[in-house]
Amino acid sequence: MKIGVLGFHGSVFEHERALKKCGAISRQIRCVEDLDQVNGLILPGGESTALGKFLHISGLHSAIIRKVKKGFPVYGTCAGAILLAQKAYGKEPEILRVMDIEIERNAYGRQIESFITLISAPKISQKKLRAVFIRAPKIVHVGPMVEVLAKHGTDKILVREGNLLASTFHPEMTDDTAIHRYFIQMCKKNFLHHFHTL
Ligand code: GLN
Repeated sequence: MKIGVLGFHGSVFEHERALKKCGAISRQIRCVEDLDQVNGLILPGGESTALGKFLHISGLHSAIIRKVKKGFPVYGTCAGAILLAQKAYGKEPEILRVMDIEIERNAYGRQIESFITLISAPKISQKKLRAVFIRAPKIVHVGPMVEVLAKHGTDKILVREGNLLASTFHPEMTDDTAIHRYFIQMCKKNFLHHFHTL
């Protein structure tokens, strides 16, 4: 199983390390041709404005949208989740608008308000998972086809819509690889149906 990690900026190394720990091969994705070499793609955390610009300059913006419509699995963490959203509040970057969620940037406050907590995601792990929130966004709306896999209080923090997975936190910054293993399983499936946002 070969999984791509958008390789411009952000928590690229951390995702690659987690994928390797799960026995998958990782490959950094920087151009459209790279995308055909992998079974799925991770959009890392970082700065969504910068990542959105890179997506445009590289041509990956429309290439990813095209592939997602055909069922290509994509997992966005934090800034990556912002890129997947239908709408982002608070200075909207150049996002992909492929997932039926709306998201508010920096919704927990400034960098100093970043935090680590334990969360439950029963469909993914029987153990509690450590979740790292760094200047994280909040998912403020989910469409009817979106499954909520984990919450922090009332906040939806890990959601899935078919071939798309998004978390507002960073599992790649912990030693727990349960969410990466879950995504790798998603990459082994074929998604043939269309989603309401596409
Ligand atoms: N605050 C960043 C943004 O809005 C996201 C931060 C992160 O990925 N940890 O783009």
